[in-house]
Amino acid sequence: MADPLIFACDCGKIRGELSQEARKAGTRIVCFCADCRANEIYHKQPDPAPGPVDLFQVNPDGLTFHQGEDLLRLMRLSPKGLFRWYAGCCGTPMANTLAKPTLPFAGLRSDRFANKDALGKIRARAFVPKQGKQPRTEGAARMVMSLLSRMISARLSGRWKETPFFDVESGEPVSKPEVISKEERAALLR
Ligand SMILES: [Zn+2]
Ligand SMILES: [Zn+2]
Repeated sequence: MADPLIFACDCGKIRGELSQEARKAGTRIVCFCADCRANEIYHKQPDPAPGPVDLFQVNPDGLTFHQGEDLLRLMRLSPKGLFRWYAGCCGTPMANTLAKPTLPFAGLRSDRFANKDALGKIRARAFVPKQGKQPRTEGAARMVMSLLSRMISARLSGRWKETPFFDVESGEPVSKPEVISKEERAALLR
């Protein structure tokens, strides 16, 4: 049986695995926000709406690439948007990160794993649409606490430097971000 913690892009050129430790410390969430949806549509994935995008939040040091790490590409949905990493080979969305290696965080697309059930139960539902009201995040406190405790432990131990997404010396991402315009983003959501 394939290791359930193996992840890959659609075409298989990018392949890696998540450590058991990172799986245990990680938090599986689903996100209904417009940006996560726009990202899927931009990369010609099926439109998730009205459903969410399934994500597994971890420290980046838990990721090991077996191949294709150099094929990672980066886009942002606005000048200050999350870093949204995708496979340059086939366009598969792979992960989101914050914009600095000193804020160690990655939200991996759960669907990239051989068996996303191995990632555990869904602990939070972000930006759940509510009729006539602002979207709500269910499990927000748990999600934020887990995220902060992972970040703090990665910072204190120095493990934040083990990231596939950044050059830690310069703080620059390994791929130059393309930022799409407001109009392009709006067109994706029409
Ligand atoms: Zn989102
Ligand atoms: Zn690929």
